[in-house]
Amino acid sequence: MLKREDLERREAEMLSPLAAKSAESRGRLHPTEPCPLRTAFQRDRDRIIHSKSFRRLKYKTQVFLPGGGDHYRTRLTHTLEVAQIGRTIARGLNLNEDLTEAIGLGHDLGHTPFGHAGERMLDRLLAPEHHFRHNEQSLRVVDALEDGKGLNLTEEVRDGILRHTGDVLPFTLEGQVIRFADRIAYVNHDIDDAVRIGLLKPESLPDTYAGFLGDTHGSRIDALVGDVIAASDGKGEITQSETGRAALGELRTFLFEHLYRLPVVASEEEKGCHILKALFEYYMNHEEEIPDTIPLSPLPLRVKDYVAGMTDKFAEERYKEIFIPSGFHF
Ligand code: MG
Repeated sequence: MLKREDLERREAEMLSPLAAKSAESRGRLHPTEPCPLRTAFQRDRDRIIHSKSFRRLKYKTQVFLPGGGDHYRTRLTHTLEVAQIGRTIARGLNLNEDLTEAIGLGHDLGHTPFGHAGERMLDRLLAPEHHFRHNEQSLRVVDALEDGKGLNLTEEVRDGILRHTGDVLPFTLEGQVIRFADRIAYVNHDIDDAVRIGLLKPESLPDTYAGFLGDTHGSRIDALVGDVIAASDGKGEITQSETGRAALGELRTFLFEHLYRLPVVASEEEKGCHILKALFEYYMNHEEEIPDTIPLSPLPLRVKDYVAGMTDKFAEERYKEIFIPSGFHF
């Protein structure tokens, strides 16, 4: 039988000296008895997977593409791809896979409904006294909002979630791995989804780095993941080669110019933003309708916590209930 102490010993013996070790974790906000079977990071991963906030990711948009369909990414499948790419990189560098996985699974828990357009709209609605960033909201979900009390995760997972985007790097290499895994995942799956829906043609992708990336979804991910591993091997930071950085950067720029700003994408986003704004203003005037599980705080922040946690589906249903006469069908 393998107990937690055995797993901790394995980590100490087998992982890179640069890896975060669960036995040396900086700990939790509220100290608790360790699990007899799982390491601290494995336990964090499980807490995230069993949370309601995690399950809600399945009804949150990744990129607002018109039409919909069963094969497009959702925030949940994006999250799983990030966790999987992150684990591959962590394993290749002999870092802590459990910590990487936990950060990957938790990184987008605070995402709003209706994708990044929803995030920008909430930020605008809260200005000028407050602001909204999905990474800060992800931390708030695991610290306070899940079940009205949070998940009490380790400092390493909390730090990786908060700093998966932005200028400040996480203090663990595993957290840094997720920053790259997130970008590699979304750039590639957004291309894949856009091609599937017919908004992009594979032959229209930039070809400066075609020799490095290959010409399939799988070859592009393979090349970028392998490059991060090779460029970061033995270093105290996670990085890319010049070619890897330029190739990923070019794809990303291409998506911004040729997909995210397409009128057909922007007009779908606008509809989502309209719903979000209407709900935000409604709850600013009806605080009594906000569930008790949303912790007390200044009203705009409480409304933000409630609305940001909604799925696209729930937000649409609430919008219909509140603003559309019940005899009206559409
Ligand atoms: Mg993400």
